[in-house]
Amino acid sequence: MRRDLLGRMQQIFLLISILLLLAIGLLAAQAAGFSWASGLSWRGWLPVAPPHPRVVLISGHAASDSGAVCTDADGTVSLAEADVTADVTKRAAELLRQAGNEVEIFAEFDARLDGLAADALVSLHADSCVEYSGYKAAHRENAPTVDDVRLLACVDQKYAAATGLAYHPDTITRDMIDYHAFRKIDPATPALILELGFLGGDRVLLTDGAERVAQGVADGITCFLAGSSADEQSLSP
Ligand SMILES: [Zn+2]
Repeated sequence: MRRDLLGRMQQIFLLISILLLLAIGLLAAQAAGFSWASGLSWRGWLPVAPPHPRVVLISGHAASDSGAVCTDADGTVSLAEADVTADVTKRAAELLRQAGNEVEIFAEFDARLDGLAADALVSLHADSCVEYSGYKAAHRENAPTVDDVRLLACVDQKYAAATGLAYHPDTITRDMIDYHAFRKIDPATPALILELGFLGGDRVLLTDGAERVAQGVADGITCFLAGSSADEQSLSP
């Protein structure tokens, strides 16, 4: 009789011990980040990946006008800036997405530009149908940030390298340095306007070589997002 009671007490004690150990184990797992809500997965144990950089590309003149045009002898338009920028923008966006960025393509006067906060904004344009060759890039004239300057340095270096185009310094216009988007976005958003080349002298590159042009754009932005300073590289002997 007495031995029965002792045995039963031992069983109860054992049961309570097992329940206590289970509870302690559960609490410890929860404290370490394991979550029942996540469907019993172990995701909670893994380090959280940083958010993807947000890149916005403006497809020059999109939803506005055709921009600069080349015309045949009879006045027919043979090449329009807006078609060139749309093609290059689409290709550059794809390359940047493949590199793990979140990329959005905006129209020229996109309403989303107002107060835009992004990791980089680059507007793609092309210059007129004259027999010049070369690209141009500019950040805002009014109070550029350190990041504006660094983005420009990266694009200058990488775009020139990918396309073989030289910088064409004499034709930077008021429209570029006082570009409308610079005045709309959050001032902390690094921003740049890039004239990809001349529809005239760089026509073959801008059309048949659009993939190389897009690669140059993507390389420049990737250099900036990686925290590189093209300045430091180019200043080294
Ligand atoms: Zn333009």
